[in-house]
Amino acid sequence: MSDLEAVIGLEIHCQLKTATKLFCSCQARSGDEPNSHICEVCSGQPGALPRLNGRALWLAAKAGLALGCQVQEVSIFSRKNYFYPDLPAGFQTSQLDPPVCLGGALSIGPEDDPLLIRLNRIHLEDDAGKCVHDEARGQTLVDLNRAGTPLIEIVTEPDLRSSAQTAEFLKKLHALLVHLEVTEGRLEEGEFRCDVNISLRPRGAAWFGTRCEIKNLNSFRHAAQAVAYEAVRQESLLAQGLEVSQETRLFDPVRQETRSLRSKEEAHDYRYFPQPDLPPVLISGEMLEKIRAEMPEPPEKVKARLKGLGLTDEQAERLLDRRRAAEYFDAARLALEEPKRLATLMVELLLPACQRAGLDPPDCRLAPRDLAALARLMADNTLSRRAAYEIFPELFEKGGDPAAVAAARGLLQVSDSGAIEALAAEAIAAHPEEAEKYRQGQEKILSFFVGQVMKKSRGAANPKLAGEVLAGLLNQ
Ligand code: ADP
Ligand code: MG
Ligand code: ZN
Repeated sequence: MSDLEAVIGLEIHCQLKTATKLFCSCQARSGDEPNSHICEVCSGQPGALPRLNGRALWLAAKAGLALGCQVQEVSIFSRKNYFYPDLPAGFQTSQLDPPVCLGGALSIGPEDDPLLIRLNRIHLEDDAGKCVHDEARGQTLVDLNRAGTPLIEIVTEPDLRSSAQTAEFLKKLHALLVHLEVTEGRLEEGEFRCDVNISLRPRGAAWFGTRCEIKNLNSFRHAAQAVAYEAVRQESLLAQGLEVSQETRLFDPVRQETRSLRSKEEAHDYRYFPQPDLPPVLISGEMLEKIRAEMPEPPEKVKARLKGLGLTDEQAERLLDRRRAAEYFDAARLALEEPKRLATLMVELLLPACQRAGLDPPDCRLAPRDLAALARLMADNTLSRRAAYEIFPELFEKGGDPAAVAAARGLLQVSDSGAIEALAAEAIAAHPEEAEKYRQGQEKILSFFVGQVMKKSRGAANPKLAGEVLAGLLNQ
């Protein structure tokens, strides 16, 4: 794509982390018995009156503040009218003008040369239910548990230019919203999904080409793949002198292609109008102050701080990726002088274990100070890396003092040079020929002797120390 560039704008739907739905007190939980969390409001009964969930508004404003938006003092809910079986009221309650937040931006790319991706708006809206196709019965059933779940929709300006930038932006936005605890952000549950708008134009042109919108991508990889495919498809149309028609498309991850869903002519006319059942939404300066006060340290700052402690870029990112991992790290770090090994233990052992167990690090059984103790045992060579990795599953499952667990399994290394010296002397006495070869310059034989000491100690000797003691004795 030499003379053309892609122009990409995203609409991201993110489920807010609230106990209840946006306009009623039903639990906002998917996965339960179908239609077990519904009432007259979220099932769209005529005359049922909605009431705004204050927590959802709070979280939307919090996301807006973190993204540098202008949080609106007054915003309005509107009805977005369309017909679909999973939308019993016949309209979605959304925001058109003004939405809860306007403007804002998130930067991607290197810190010293960032690319600013501007946001157009953030608005609040409720989610629809789900149609469940029952093949066996040949029927389509409707589950309204998800209906009324609070979402924010974040709309970017068309500032992205490639599939790589698209994936990077989505990852960074996702990590930020998870960090803020605005969302649980479970991608596989569709809690963070996006529509990708893409068009092509001559590189550097000041106008926009005709765009297509690819709906409902719930993985960063699929979003990037959809962009890549769509850019090639549009380019080949243009190269043949054809036009790109404005349409809505779907991405098929199995076939790695997008397919037309509907054209502009078939596009919905949503007939937006103000929702008469809800008063204007007010956000006071006092409320914004309270939200600011609970705002966590921004991810870039946490990252810079972690890197200042000697962590690699990747380690810092891995800690930021997992909710509350940095909090755990900070608690553990207090008990240590040198935090790099701790970061390695977290990235290689603790985070994957938490992922499998579905736990946030601070909620697991292994206390931060005990993981710090494990790092310390490794640092002073009391525990080998292999032994540490061996006892980790037990520590993760039950918690406890790593020194005690290692001792109970006979895994503590003997770093007492007196004890090692006795074993080393035995080994040398038992193998005079090898000792002689060593003395004549075959230094490699030292590792044979270390092996002997390790064997005699049944693996408990500290191999580094054993090597030093042996060399000392052999060179006497
Ligand atoms: P609609 O609400 O009809 O989908 P909007 O104007 O609100 O349209 O834009 C939706 C998204 O499409 C925004 O993220 C915007 O940046 C993006 N967008 C608009 N025009 C283009 C274009 N020509 N090429 C790529 N993306 C675009
Ligand atoms: Mg759109
Ligand atoms: Zn309800």
